[in-house]
Amino acid sequence: MELLLTGGMGYIGSHTAVSLTLAGHRVVLYDNLVKSAEVMVERLERITGISPLFVSGDVRDTDHLTDTLRHYAIDAVIHFAGLKVVGESLEIPLEYYANNVQGTISLLQAMREVGTRSLVFSSSANVYGEPRYLPVDEAHPTGVTNPYGRTKLHVEEILFDLARSDPSWRIICLRYFNPVGAHESGLIGETPQGIPNNLMPYIARVASGELAELLVFGDDYPTPDGTGVRDFIHVMDLAEGHASAVAYLTGHSGWQAINLGTGQGYSVLEMVRAFEAASGRPVPYRIAPRRPGDSASCYANPEKALRLLDWSARRSLADMCASTWAFQSGSH
Ligand code: NAD
Ligand code: UDP
Repeated sequence: MELLLTGGMGYIGSHTAVSLTLAGHRVVLYDNLVKSAEVMVERLERITGISPLFVSGDVRDTDHLTDTLRHYAIDAVIHFAGLKVVGESLEIPLEYYANNVQGTISLLQAMREVGTRSLVFSSSANVYGEPRYLPVDEAHPTGVTNPYGRTKLHVEEILFDLARSDPSWRIICLRYFNPVGAHESGLIGETPQGIPNNLMPYIARVASGELAELLVFGDDYPTPDGTGVRDFIHVMDLAEGHASAVAYLTGHSGWQAINLGTGQGYSVLEMVRAFEAASGRPVPYRIAPRRPGDSASCYANPEKALRLLDWSARRSLADMCASTWAFQSGSH
């Protein structure tokens, strides 16, 4: 199939591009490079042996998107483009609504114009807010607590209304849990700008010596060791989930929300120990106060993905840590 990946030069988009290319699809990466760099094209070519098509553009530019969809005769779109930092979304909410919500409306207008009706949207477990029960399934009530999460929920609702208004639309919202890790080549991975907000890239920089110590945000949660528990999922498993979602869309119309997680939670201290084992480096840490807004535990019920998409995560925590370390130590 001919697939357009908005935001395809970013962390999850680039790994998905590898999976899709190796599965025989042709991918077009549409990105404004606000959070990525053009060197990605060359890296993807080194991994797959095929140069991906890159189109420089903003998703808010409806005319440019329309031309791109038409020019490459796109069958389906995977919509990764957007801003994703919860803390930043509290400071610059308008930029978040403009990129994430207005950007999606622009994409949908372009798709409607050319008749492309299949879409996979990058949503987030953030739409569930504080979990009321575990594991979190798709019937769990939504309850966003920050502008970033609200942009994801707004977009999901827009997509739901669209699919209801016109049965020719085929839409899947993939609710990612905590994507981590990198492609086994060590050529691509997560490169947050500045000091990382998320646990795994922070641990990787402590192990490499770039940062002195990890602050563990709270050790008095009602979890086995008192530290927060999350559902970390290998980014290549996540990437393969997109290939399965695209395959499902060829035979099904309507709207679906589907969790992509492993179903297994790991604590902050378990992550530290696993990373030390994978890297052979110490990860010094200090217990600090809880981070405002954090929940104690969050992990997925991944049964719907297995049932509908015939997909489940295969890679282990050791794989997640080893590939993160290969990328971290190779790129510095
Ligand atoms: P990323 O920042 O690495 O990639 C996003 C890409 O989108 C970047 O290449 C950026 O340049 C591009 N982009 C941003 N705004 C754009 C615009 N207006 N027009 C065109 N391109 C634009 O992020 P990621 O981790 O790969 O996340 C991809 C998607 O998955 C995002 O929508 C994010 O909200 C969602 N998501 C990510 C996580 C996570 O932990 N990484 C978790 C849940 C959901
Ligand atoms: N965390 C931490 N120190 C950090 C970053 C994160 O202790 O420097 C903890 C955080 O409190 C949470 C877990 O690690 O319990 C995962 O945090 P992350 O920001 O990666 O994901 P999210 O909280 O968005 O699920």
